[in-house]
Amino acid sequence: MKNSCWTMEKIEKIIKINRRKPEKEKIEAAAQIIKKGGIVVFPTETVYGIGASAFNERAIKRLYKIKGRPLDNPSIIHIARKKDIYDIADISKKDKEIIEKLVKKFWPGPLTLVVKNKKIPAAATAGLDTVAVRMPANKIALELIKRSGPIAAPSANISGKPSGTSIEMLKELAEKVDLIINGGESKIGLESTVFDIRTKKILRPGKISPEQLSKILKEKVTKIKKILKKPRSPGMKYKHYSPDAKVIVLFGSKNKIEKFIEKMINKKFRIGAILLKKIKIKDEKVNIKFVKNLDDYAKNLFKFFRKFDEMKCDVIICEGVKEKGIGHAIMDRFKKASEKLIKLK
Ligand code: AMP
Ligand code: MG
Repeated sequence: MKNSCWTMEKIEKIIKINRRKPEKEKIEAAAQIIKKGGIVVFPTETVYGIGASAFNERAIKRLYKIKGRPLDNPSIIHIARKKDIYDIADISKKDKEIIEKLVKKFWPGPLTLVVKNKKIPAAATAGLDTVAVRMPANKIALELIKRSGPIAAPSANISGKPSGTSIEMLKELAEKVDLIINGGESKIGLESTVFDIRTKKILRPGKISPEQLSKILKEKVTKIKKILKKPRSPGMKYKHYSPDAKVIVLFGSKNKIEKFIEKMINKKFRIGAILLKKIKIKDEKVNIKFVKNLDDYAKNLFKFFRKFDEMKCDVIICEGVKEKGIGHAIMDRFKKASEKLIKLK
């Protein structure tokens, strides 16, 4: 895209915006870029998104090219007002009741709803008859979308790599997009929960847990079981979130985890580890990041993956967690990133 069609003649590629009080002129400039067919990386509370106007097929195709995203993996459409879901989706009376309950409780927030598509072009939905919609809980994102209209935005990363959760992780996109908004570190750090209204199944676990959804809908909500040949959520068949290093997920006592790491040190591996248990190993071949709790784990997971890759680690050892609350989402990302889940006996 040529600069000449922007309202601002010259604009920095990366701009910092205050996430509590977004500066109006900066948001307006970003919105103009989206409206005119450009691509903007922007913060949300889950991870950063790489966005184009949800109605501009050309811009969306360019976005897919930049990300290296397969065309059959649809994007989430981000909206700024709850009622906008009725504008872009075809919603039956029965579904409306469910949507109203969920939206009242969880929007703005990390819950994406898959509903019947009405208006979104095939480039963003991979030609499916459904569309995934979310209202993010981030002032910058909301102000931007209010001005630009709905934005189709997959996670901001090169396809197959962990999603960007801070400006340091977005460097490789800077050359390719029209603008990056630096809005600080993502609060949640993992992508949204994707929930299919028709089947009432979770297609992708996220911060909003099956337990929370079950409570609101007054029925047991579960994750979709296996990766089908033609999965309901096309993103499920792709290997995601993979660092270059080999990821090993360990379950076991403090003592056993220590012993396992010592064994890896003896094999001369360069090791990165993310642990909840406070083990005491000091060796220059190991870099351990301790996390305080599951939310802290989720928030920092992709950042640590990235750091360990930069340090050229051979393996990344992660402590496995219980599949409860956000633990479902953490384990889901592990299963996609790792070759091995080991229970130490
Ligand atoms: P990302 O944009 O990287 O957060 O990924 C979006 C996720 O939402 C992917 O796993 C997609 O497959 C899923 N998704 C988007 N649209 C749909 C849809 N219409 N039906 C099912 N899953 C969808
Ligand atoms: Mg993604």
